[in-house]
Amino acid sequence: MLSFKEIGIENNILTAIEDLGFEKPMPIQEKVIPHLLQENCSDMVALAQTGTGKTAAFGLPLIQKTDIANKSVQHLILSPTRELCVQIAKDLEDFSKNIKGFKVTAVFGGASIENQIKAIKKGTHIISATPGRLLDLLNRGVINISKIKTVVLDEADEMLNMGFRDDLEDILKTTPKEKNTLLFSATMPNEVLAIANRYMKNPVEISVGQRNAGAENVNHICFMVHARDRYLALKRIADFYPEIYGIIFCRTRRETQEVADSLIKDGYNADALHGDLSQIQRDTVMNKFRIRHLRLLVATDVAARGLDVDNISHVINYNLPDDNEIYTHRSGRTGRAGKAGTSIVIANLKEKGKLRDIERQVKKKFEHKPVPLGKEICEKQLIHLIDKMKAVEVDRKQIDSFLPAIYEKLEKLEREELIQKFVSLEFNRFIEYYKNTADLNVPDSSNKSTRERSGERTRGERHIDSSDQFTRFFINLGKTDELKPTNIIGMVNDFTNVRNIDIGAIEILKNFSFFEADSNYTKQILKGFEGKSFNKRPISVEVAESKKMEGARSGSPRSGGGRQGGGKPFNKSKSGGGKFFDGKPKKKRY
Ligand code: AMP
Repeated sequence: MLSFKEIGIENNILTAIEDLGFEKPMPIQEKVIPHLLQENCSDMVALAQTGTGKTAAFGLPLIQKTDIANKSVQHLILSPTRELCVQIAKDLEDFSKNIKGFKVTAVFGGASIENQIKAIKKGTHIISATPGRLLDLLNRGVINISKIKTVVLDEADEMLNMGFRDDLEDILKTTPKEKNTLLFSATMPNEVLAIANRYMKNPVEISVGQRNAGAENVNHICFMVHARDRYLALKRIADFYPEIYGIIFCRTRRETQEVADSLIKDGYNADALHGDLSQIQRDTVMNKFRIRHLRLLVATDVAARGLDVDNISHVINYNLPDDNEIYTHRSGRTGRAGKAGTSIVIANLKEKGKLRDIERQVKKKFEHKPVPLGKEICEKQLIHLIDKMKAVEVDRKQIDSFLPAIYEKLEKLEREELIQKFVSLEFNRFIEYYKNTADLNVPDSSNKSTRERSGERTRGERHIDSSDQFTRFFINLGKTDELKPTNIIGMVNDFTNVRNIDIGAIEILKNFSFFEADSNYTKQILKGFEGKSFNKRPISVEVAESKKMEGARSGSPRSGGGRQGGGKPFNKSKSGGGKFFDGKPKKKRY
C-alpha cells in the first residue's frame, strides 16, 4: 500500500492530515488522488459511499492544485445538504491549515446571505455550496464561476433525489468549457448517468467496492416480527446492545417523531431528526449526537443526509425504505473508516421479497436472528454492568475519607450477599420489566433461529400504538380555543389532584380533541372535569369510542446502553412527553 507522500501529496498537506490521524490513503484516495494530480486529467465518475474517504480524495488534490496568489474562485464543490456542504468546507480547512492564505467558503441556504457575500468578497479559492443558494448568489452577481478549473458534484444521486436537477443544469451552464468535472455518487441511477453523459468528457470511471454494493465491513441482521411488535423489538434490540450508538431510520416524519417520543418516554437516550424541525433544532440534535450525548438518533433519510458521524455501531431500519438503494445509503452510515458496523432490519413476513432484493443489491445475506428474550437481555446488561464495574478506575484520594464509614455499614454482609445486593440495586427494575415478557419472534419455518417458547406471556411491555390500558377521552375544546397539549396535562393534574396519571396520545383538532389517560383513573378524570371551564368555556369530557387497547402499561428498566440512567414510566407531571398530534408532531425538549 502506498503512502500519501508516494501518491503525490505535498508536505504542508501531509503534516495537516497526519494531525487528523490519516496514516495511509483509503482505497478511493489511492485511486482518485494520483489521477487528479495529473496536469491535464480527464473528468471522473466515482461510485463511492459516504464514509469511504471521498472528501479527502477530491479535497487534497484540489487544495494542492490551487494557485494561492490568484484570489478568484478556482474550484466549486456542490453537495445536497447544508450539513454536508459545511462539513466539506471544514474538512478542506483542516487539510489546508498549514497553507498560508488558502481560503475555502461554504455557501448554503437557511443562513444569512449577507455574511456569505462578505466572505466571498474577501476572496476565496474554493466554494463548497448547495445548489439553491449558489444559484441565488450567481444571479446576484456575487460569485463568478466562469474561470473555475474544477466542479465536483458530491452525492450527485442525492442532489437529483432532492430535486436540484434544474439548479444543477443552470449552474453547470455558467461554468467554462475547459474545466474538470468530477462526479461522486453512492448509486448510479439513470438520471445520474444522464448528467454524466451530458456534462462530462470521456470520464474515467472509478469504483470503490462493488457497484451498488454495501460497505465491506457492515454485517446485515434481520429480526422478523409481527408489524405490531416493531417498537417492542426495537427496544429489545437497543437493550441487547448496551454500547449502542446508532441511527434508527423511519419512513415518515410523523413516524420518526412517534418512535423518538416513545423511546424518550421509555427512558432511552434518544431524539428525533426530521424536516418538521427548525434548522436550529436539527443542529442541536445533530450536535448532541455527534458528541455522543445522544445514543439513539431517530431520523428520516433526508434529514440524516450530510450527518457525518463516524463510529456509528448500528443502523436500525425501523421500516424498510421503499427504494432499495436507500438501504445502501442507510447501512453505509455504519462500518466507516475501516470499522465494523451492523445494519439491522426489523421486518415482517410480508417483506421477505424485499429482503431478497436488498441482499442482491448489497451482495450480502441477512443473518436472521431471533429477537432477544427478556432473560437474554438481562444477562447481557448484567454482564455489561459487571465489566464496567471491573474496568472503573478507583480514585482513592477522593473516596478514602468516606470508606471507613461505608466499611462499617457493610461490615455484616458476606461477599456473596454484597454482590447480590449490588446487582439487585442496579437491576431489580430491569429484571422486573422483562419478567414474563413474550417471545416476539414470528414462527417461520425458514427462520431457523426462531425459537419455540412456552408459558411466556406479554407482560409489562408497551406497544407504541396506544395499545395499552388507556382510555380515550373526548374533550369539547380544540385549536379554536387555543388548547395545547400542556393545557390538557395541566388540567388532568389540577382537576383530579392526582400527580402521576399516565397520559398517552393527545390529538388536538379544530373544535374538539382527544386524549388518552390511564384507565384506572377514568372515574377521577370524568368527575374532576365536571363543572370546570377553560378560557370561560364550560368543559365537557366524555369517554370516547376507544381504539383497540391491549397489554399492560409499565415503566421501563433503568441503565443500559441506549437508555438514560434511571428511566421512569412516563409521567405527565414530570416530562410532559407523549405523542402530541395537533396537526404536526411536536418536538420534545430537554
Ligand atoms: P468521508 O467519506 O469523506 O466522509 O470520510 C469518512 C471519514 O474517514 C472521515 O471522518 C474522514 O476524516 C476519515 N478519513 C478520510 N481519509 C482517511 C484516511 N486516509 N485515514 C483515516 N481516516 C480517514
